[in-house]
Amino acid sequence: MPRDNIILQCTECKERNYVTTKNKKTTPDRLEFKKFCSRCRTHTLHKENK
Ligand SMILES: [Zn+2]
Repeated sequence: MPRDNIILQCTECKERNYVTTKNKKTTPDRLEFKKFCSRCRTHTLHKENK
């Protein structure tokens, strides 16, 4: 099964903080995670970046 690299970007400061993978066939939606952002220095919503 092909898995694609996904960049998770902070929605507050647009910093690209995390890289993960997902299968686009089983997970067609854009991913959203609450993650710690080192620039905001708090937990913010991170979204999949194209
Ligand atoms: Zn941030």
